Amino acid sequence: MGKLNLNPFGMSEQSFDQLAFAKMKADTINNTPGDLTGYDCPKCRNRGFIALEKEDGGISTQECDCMKIRRCVWEMEKSGLKNIIREKTFDAFTATEGWQKAVKSGAVAYAEKTEGWLLFCGQSGSGKTHLCTAVCRHRLLAGDEVRYMPWRDKISEIKGMSLDNERRAEILNGYKKAQILYIDDLYKTGKAADGSSNPTGADIGIAFEIINHRYINHLPTIISTEKTAQELVDIDEATGSRIIEMAEGHTYSIARDTKRNYRLRGVVTV
Ligand SMILES: [Zn+2]
Repeated sequence: MGKLNLNPFGMSEQSFDQLAFAKMKADTINNTPGDLTGYDCPKCRNRGFIALEKEDGGISTQECDCMKIRRCVWEMEKSGLKNIIREKTFDAFTATEGWQKAVKSGAVAYAEKTEGWLLFCGQSGSGKTHLCTAVCRHRLLAGDEVRYMPWRDKISEIKGMSLDNERRAEILNGYKKAQILYIDDLYKTGKAADGSSNPTGADIGIAFEIINHRYINHLPTIISTEKTAQELVDIDEATGSRIIEMAEGHTYSIARDTKRNYRLRGVVTV
């Protein structure tokens, strides 16, 4: 009677045993759930890596694809956007009025095919951030690298680094070169001493550096801003005209109307 062939690949009995043992160890590791947050990954069970058996009986590890998604989600959550994967879906965006349906379908179409740039202008609190985040979520889950730049916070951080040129360049490069970039609230500033809230020359310079690089390299960029398209051009023509050119056909301007600000709904004015 022939021996059951457990070694079809012609390896020595010893190396086969070692491989089988390594596989057992790898399986044990791969069946143990981890505790990483931000995204639920069936592939690595939230450990962030996959264990692989080696012929010599050892184990090697390989980073799981979900780490790319996790890093983006962590970055976005650290910047104040919560529960991106679970809550910031297109379905969760309520579109009852005509203008809501129009902006929603525009965002959904862009998320499917990120050609050119996406620009949401105007009215604060109208759901611009929700829709832009839903686009990012969609691209993240499709495996793209998405970076999130909450303008007001990041611009003051970058300006505060004027003496640390290396770190400043590193941060700016991250935004300039990301596969997809979402700039939230472009040109939003705090109030200056004189009560004005116009972007400064330094703000405008940094905006141009990022926008121009992405313009030249045709990198998909999502921008939300309370400024109108005309105001973008008035603030700085070089940056504004590039944004408008790239976002042609994907620009949504939400008129300033307090009824469209969900944060004000139910507020009684006396
Ligand atoms: Zn994973």
